[in-house]
Amino acid sequence: MRDMTRTVHHPIISEEGYASLAVPTHRASTIVFEDAQSYATRGARDLDGYSYGMHGTPTQRVLEAQITALEGGLKAVVLPSGQAAIAAVFLSVLKPGDHVLLAETAYPPVTGLCRNFLAPLGITWSTYPPGIGAGIETYLTPQTRLIWMESPGSTTMEIEDVPAIARLAQERGILTGIDNTWATPLLFKPLAHGVDFSMQALTKYPGGHSDILMGSVTVTDEALRKGLRDVMRMLGFHTAPDAISLVLRGIETMAVRLVHSGRIAGELAQEISDRHPVEVLSPVLPSDPGHEIWVRDFLGASGLFSVVLPEAWESRLDIALDSLEIFTIGASWGGTRSLIAPMRIADQRITPNPRNDRVILRISVGLEEPDDLRDDLDRFFAILAQK
Ligand SMILES: *Cc1c(COP(=O)(O)O)cnc(C)c1O
Repeated sequence: MRDMTRTVHHPIISEEGYASLAVPTHRASTIVFEDAQSYATRGARDLDGYSYGMHGTPTQRVLEAQITALEGGLKAVVLPSGQAAIAAVFLSVLKPGDHVLLAETAYPPVTGLCRNFLAPLGITWSTYPPGIGAGIETYLTPQTRLIWMESPGSTTMEIEDVPAIARLAQERGILTGIDNTWATPLLFKPLAHGVDFSMQALTKYPGGHSDILMGSVTVTDEALRKGLRDVMRMLGFHTAPDAISLVLRGIETMAVRLVHSGRIAGELAQEISDRHPVEVLSPVLPSDPGHEIWVRDFLGASGLFSVVLPEAWESRLDIALDSLEIFTIGASWGGTRSLIAPMRIADQRITPNPRNDRVILRISVGLEEPDDLRDDLDRFFAILAQK
């Protein structure tokens, strides 16, 4: 072997005696084959096997297996973002003529997907008000193929009666899916309640550091898994191994981070509700309409809740936001840094509610010292309440 060849043929070394707690990051586009026969028959390898980097490396298989175990599913797939994960579910089961029924409180880009991409393909959609449980029946059409839930709902945090909806859908032969990003499978296990697709944005708590986008979908049925993998193959949805290795690292601390952020967020939500003339939206509060079902179905709370501002405060909101020293203004959530995002939801809601026209602050509690967060919020609310 001459030098030029040597530069591209890595030497083979012994790994004997080597062991590490870290999951190796395997990168690959090309997968190589031992012999002509294994190349010729590569198409016969199953969905867990390796044939091209697009379909995953062992690093991805570790993440898939870990999510599968946490969700209590049969198999998980990993996608390049949470939104891609939702799109893959929809595209894997909806055909022209089908109807998809969405929670009105679903992550807003989901309605964008339906309106701009699926509707022109002949797939119809409509929304239902969250929190209606088995009352969802009246929103079904003979064409409804999929019900898409999110609990708590985006920004307004309504809890859905997932078991009731899943039971009704099963009786009707309708598939169900849920965006479980708020709870993660540590705090709520949708598949155990009969939901067909459990989706989460790994971008949030599993990634945990505001620097990665990724999503996952977990199922209990091999045919549904195959449908997802077909969509991923045909649309070329690939997730980079380096990002996956960072999510694997994030998951190692997720349980501890969630307990901390959830406890502090619960305390802050109660304190804000007690001390200020605002509506606090969080299923943790005993006064919240979703509290009972949340206690029944969930194992805890994560660090995200919302605050509806009185109209009279809105003119001072920008000054108050600019005064924040610990909280940062930003969307996304689930990272180490606490965030505040002022949201307007009017164009995402059909069901009338006075708060639809108000500014809603979405607060994500991170890992700072809680009293620093309290001091920051005290300053913030003092500015808002100025006469
Ligand atoms: C962030 C988020 C998503 C989308 O995840 P991306 O990785 O940002 O595409 C979907 N659903 C919910 C509830 C989210 O918070």
